[in-house]
Amino acid sequence: MVPDLPAESQVIPSRLPVGRLGVAVVAELVELIVTGRLEEGALLPPEGPLSERFGVSRTVLRESVKRLEEKGLVIVSQGRGTQVLAPGYWNMLDPVVLSALIDNDQSLGVLDQLTIVRASLESAMAGSVAASHTTEGLRRLENALTAMRESESETDSFRQADVVFHYALMEISTNRLAENIAKHLYKRAVESTRYQGINPPDATALTLDEHAAIVDAIARNDQAGAEKAMHDHIHGSWERRRLPDHAPLKRSQRAKPQSSETQAGKPQSGKPQSGKPQSSE
Ligand SMILES: [Zn+2]
Repeated sequence: MVPDLPAESQVIPSRLPVGRLGVAVVAELVELIVTGRLEEGALLPPEGPLSERFGVSRTVLRESVKRLEEKGLVIVSQGRGTQVLAPGYWNMLDPVVLSALIDNDQSLGVLDQLTIVRASLESAMAGSVAASHTTEGLRRLENALTAMRESESETDSFRQADVVFHYALMEISTNRLAENIAKHLYKRAVESTRYQGINPPDATALTLDEHAAIVDAIARNDQAGAEKAMHDHIHGSWERRRLPDHAPLKRSQRAKPQSSETQAGKPQSGKPQSGKPQSSE
């Protein structure tokens, strides 16, 4: 036990496994902050005691705090020390921050918020594609829908084809900022077992109908129709597979990073994925 630590430090574990020290310190501090165990305005314990608490050198600790500052979680100021910032300042698209938020979703409800943001962005992109697209763009979407139909009976391939469809639409739209944000959110979300949720028996048929409605609206240049079809699809599919509120998941039940359809933000094509995804959307 290190003497003279402020109350905040009591929530900090005393030792972390050797070998992944810097990454582990960052991950641990990110989790303490996003879950509110280190609250907005709280000061991190001083560098010396904190590095001893984590069992890392001051250099490792200093680098870790710098990473936190880059993620917008803390502000380091001379004289005042390191202070936790309000959630509005956090970079929630940062993979470590977003994963920590999603991993703690049972108390934070972040996947509901993520669904709202995804639906808004993808609706806007669907609308702009309906308003203006090339024949080639429409053909790409129709092909993506056909690939979904052809893989209907195979859960992994169907889910992969679903992702390919969403990514194709984002790429056809010319809104690079919306595409980028939506892909970041999607990529982290699909790594979460909680996001995959439950898989009702009619999910595949409904998913196909909803995707077909999006393509139809785009084909007839119906901007409002395409926006609504995408919005209804993303919200509807989340409602279908959403777990009850506050249903806890153990760490071991979480999906392994990169186990499903994306690698470095890009859907893989062709080969079936390992693992057993629970649902499609
Ligand atoms: Zn979909």
